[in-house]
Amino acid sequence: MKKTKKIFGRGANHCKRCDRRNGLVRKYGLYLCRQCFREIAPQMGFEKFS
Ligand SMILES: [Zn+2]
Repeated sequence: MKKTKKIFGRGANHCKRCDRRNGLVRKYGLYLCRQCFREIAPQMGFEKFS
């Protein structure tokens, strides 16, 4: 039994917005796939992400 890293309550490895797992962005604790990240990034001030 391995202890998983504690990540915001649950060890999510999928997008918290659409549940996709491809291209997951875990930076800054966002847990968003690239698609969602690109949609939200501008609103959050992350414009330079590609
Ligand atoms: Zn997503």
